[in-house]
Amino acid sequence: MHEYALADAVVRAALRAADDAGMVAVQAVHVRVGELQQIKQELFEFALAESRPDDEPRLADTAFHVAVEPAALTCRVCSHTFTMADALGSSSKDDLEAIHFVPELAHAFFGCPSCGSPDFEVSAGRGVTISAVEGVQAEDA
Ligand SMILES: [Zn+2]
Repeated sequence: MHEYALADAVVRAALRAADDAGMVAVQAVHVRVGELQQIKQELFEFALAESRPDDEPRLADTAFHVAVEPAALTCRVCSHTFTMADALGSSSKDDLEAIHFVPELAHAFFGCPSCGSPDFEVSAGRGVTISAVEGVQAEDA
């Protein structure tokens, strides 16, 4: 499942961050997930907890916090930033779902609400990033 593949990648990245920082225990991992990833937040939090390696005591008491980052589009012509809902206006929900699934299709459905240009890019809401890893460092223990 999508959530599990992402969770596995996040857990590995969090462990690398803990290694780099010399942490002996990780208390919390904050993750930002783009709206376009189409994940279910609760399932993702569950998947993160399930993805902790059994032989990794540093993650035994880790709390995973997931925040969803709304999708935003930025016009390359006038630099206007807008959401898919802004741009779609009266378009059907089916269109919105299709675009969510394949953001590259957005250009076929609408233009910039400010200038009408179809030349825009997804400027937020695509990726999965770790915004913070909180832990106890060796010298504090
Ligand atoms: Zn524009």
